[in-house]
Amino acid sequence: MIKYDTFYIQCPRCESWLEGHLVKSEMVNKSILYSDGKTLNDNYITEPQKIIACPACSHWFWVDEYKEPVVTYTKPDVPYYNWNHWRFFGIHFNSVEGRLALVNHYKQCLKAIENDRDKELYIRRLMWWAYNDLVRNNYQMHLPFLFSGKMSFNVWRKNRRKQKQGRAMFKKLREEYLENLKSLLLLLKGRYTPDDEEYEASILEIIELYREMGEFDEAQKILNTIPRRTHYIAHIENEVKKKHDFVFLVAG
Ligand SMILES: [Zn+2]
Repeated sequence: MIKYDTFYIQCPRCESWLEGHLVKSEMVNKSILYSDGKTLNDNYITEPQKIIACPACSHWFWVDEYKEPVVTYTKPDVPYYNWNHWRFFGIHFNSVEGRLALVNHYKQCLKAIENDRDKELYIRRLMWWAYNDLVRNNYQMHLPFLFSGKMSFNVWRKNRRKQKQGRAMFKKLREEYLENLKSLLLLLKGRYTPDDEEYEASILEIIELYREMGEFDEAQKILNTIPRRTHYIAHIENEVKKKHDFVFLVAG
């Protein structure tokens, strides 16, 4: 069963065709949610990739929505680049080096937009997730994960080494990571009013930013204003109380 739709998009500069996939949400078997909001459906990130670097001519272009006529579902009758060539800028980010390359791409993206706050918010959020990718799956290092039987001992041991490398790099980049969180916070604060659809999500994101910045009192202050305790909010509050500042797995 095909779980995704295949679309095609053309580079506005050199007119090369690129192929990509959109996961059909009704066919998703497994969703994974992390505390920073990054969500995976069957291992595909749900956030659309709005910036594309053309693999043929390196031109950068912005795609707000993957809808016709920007994309087409008709296969072009000329050769095209497949998704791996341009998805996440062609980076294979299973390694620490790849993950760093992704962070660096976002830094370049920030330079290319001029005072566009919507674009800046989008890029900084993805950059935040890219930094967190270095430590996102640290929970896999621990023994309960080994005993869950999801990895053989050898795979677990190799993965553990990679997790440790990621963690060391994450610590090294702490200053620039915090800089990004601060900028993100400034972009989000006061951006929405309670009438906006995005309001509630933005409050949760602000709490999470404070938590990851290690500003637990600020995070708790906002938590105290929220009457509702979903699984997600209760989990974040728990981590705030424990003064934990790492991204964590909420569900999946
Ligand atoms: Zn091009």
